[in-house]
Amino acid sequence: MDRPEIIMAPGPTPVPPEVYLAQGSPLVYHRGPGYGDLLREVTEDLKRLYKTKNDVVIFASSGTGGLESAVANLFSPGDTVVVPVAGFFGERFAKIARAYRLDVRTIDYEWGRAVDPADVEKTLADTGARGVLVQQSETSTGVIHPVEDIARVAKQAGALIAVDCVSSLGAVPFETDAWGVDAAISGSQKALSATPGLAFVAISPAAWEANETAQNPRFYFDWSLYKTAYALSSPENPFTPAISLMQGLRAALRLYFQDGPDRAQRRHELLSRAVKNGVRALGLDLFGDHPELAWAVTAVRAPEGIDGDELVARCRRDHGVILAPGQGPLKGKVFRIGHLGYYDRLDIMRGLVALELTLESMGYPLKRGAAVAAAEDVFSQG
Ligand SMILES: *Cc1c(COP(=O)(O)O)cnc(C)c1O
Repeated sequence: MDRPEIIMAPGPTPVPPEVYLAQGSPLVYHRGPGYGDLLREVTEDLKRLYKTKNDVVIFASSGTGGLESAVANLFSPGDTVVVPVAGFFGERFAKIARAYRLDVRTIDYEWGRAVDPADVEKTLADTGARGVLVQQSETSTGVIHPVEDIARVAKQAGALIAVDCVSSLGAVPFETDAWGVDAAISGSQKALSATPGLAFVAISPAAWEANETAQNPRFYFDWSLYKTAYALSSPENPFTPAISLMQGLRAALRLYFQDGPDRAQRRHELLSRAVKNGVRALGLDLFGDHPELAWAVTAVRAPEGIDGDELVARCRRDHGVILAPGQGPLKGKVFRIGHLGYYDRLDIMRGLVALELTLESMGYPLKRGAAVAAAEDVFSQG
């Protein structure tokens, strides 16, 4: 019997049946009141999630489109931006900024390190940069960067701060307004457990001001087109929206808020702790700075003599559990377990069992059941 595979990679994440049903429902026409209500509800829920009074715009694109929109809308060719790079997504933000001919000053870290706000402060002072582009959750290493402190040093230097919170919004505490984030970019397919295809950005008043003079080329991703269309008495999209995906996202947000946002975040913390204690109980080492903050994804060092890529491949082939391999310099050395989105305790246990069986089949010495027992201990306390 072929059971569906379970994704335990950091996105896309498992999708609840309510979301599939909403996505498979007849389309509401995108001009007029039906879609207006849908757009209003989704943007209001996203604002709640972002903890913001700022405008939120939504694009039919992957998360990367949202990142590109921030670069296109905030800056002009030749502007200097500071981009800390401590993993794959730091590199991506730097590549986007270079594609728009910005003067990109990277701060290069060994992958797995957390960004040090003092480095950002110094680089801002040295360069007089106009902006900082950074991730909250660097998904390639699992590490959570200290966005609150980075935003503070950016503000003090008079720079804009754009934060990629694609894999953290909804899973990890994030405060758009209290931290002063100018552009906060996220997507549908991670902690919110909707399907891939929608990106969103929360845009501060300072970001709107920068938008007015920013010369970078843009059309589809021009934030102001969305702002104008959303302001109609029945809000609209400037172009044909991804109506089915929006219907799915509405269902996903309703589920997310069913128990309140704090409850959803506590669940992420609990599941993260269960995974981490589980893998430690197998004698494995966690990878990256401050793993206790990494509520979205857990990076684990592949043990001596075991190739992380092979482990991931076998786990999928033999047990239908999809883990994520290491990227870039971590290829083969690290594997990653995603626990953001629509997971419950038994999903985590299933993943840990699959990991135990796979490691055992690869000759790694372990005590059967150790990871599950450690996870059960976490759940019985939590
Ligand atoms: C998933 C992810 C993205 C977006 O990737 P897409 O494939 O374009 O959706 C961006 N940043 C981070 C940190 C991510 O985890």
